[in-house]
Amino acid sequence: MDWLEVIDKAGLPVQYRYSNRAKRLSLRVVPGGIVELIIPQPSPPAHVIANFLVEYQNWIHKHAKACQNNPLAWPESFTHGQTVPLIGERVPLTVCFSDKKTEKVSFVAGRGLVVDCALVQCSELSVRQAVIEWYQLAAKRQVEKALRRYVPQVGHQPSRLTIKASRQLWGSLNHLGEMTINWLLLLAPSAVLMYVVLHELCHFYERRHNQRFWKKVATYDPLYMESERWLKNNGILIRKP
Ligand SMILES: [Zn+2]
Repeated sequence: MDWLEVIDKAGLPVQYRYSNRAKRLSLRVVPGGIVELIIPQPSPPAHVIANFLVEYQNWIHKHAKACQNNPLAWPESFTHGQTVPLIGERVPLTVCFSDKKTEKVSFVAGRGLVVDCALVQCSELSVRQAVIEWYQLAAKRQVEKALRRYVPQVGHQPSRLTIKASRQLWGSLNHLGEMTINWLLLLAPSAVLMYVVLHELCHFYERRHNQRFWKKVATYDPLYMESERWLKNNGILIRKP
């Protein structure tokens, strides 16, 4: 098992960093109560890191204060009355029954995320699945909205758009101009998703994160630093459901 899988499967609230100075694997608590895994270079084999995390998982859970009462956490079960993280806040999950053949999810102001499901075949799993699909679609719509806003300004359009969940990347733009955006950004305040789309569009001008690049980003989003800061402070709290 890969060590990143250990983090995901055990739900360990850990961020990691490679260090040229570190001699061995170590854990520390950084300001804000986030647990950080420091990995020396060259990196030990994956199974060594995985074993280290398993050995210290109780310590990690005890020290990860930032992840207690995590406002961005998914509910343990996708059932009526729970709340889900959506666009910077928590909204109620309302499950109702209807004679529909498949689950239908919609966002209703005042009621939150409403899942209409068929009485006969509705289960926690089918609600979960329907909600995840709704998030993916809603994220895609938000990204398209951001593209409608920024493409005319930046003057470049991605040749292709892919929406997927990723543990490592919020977005990317490859040399073919294909853009990938992480749908988990739908949990963040809307300015953050807009910023990530703009960030990737600006890579059409400049591949590297140099002064020229950041100047370009600031031209279209003067407050982009706030979104960067939000991702730095909260990104670790965002998990796949
Ligand atoms: Zn970038």
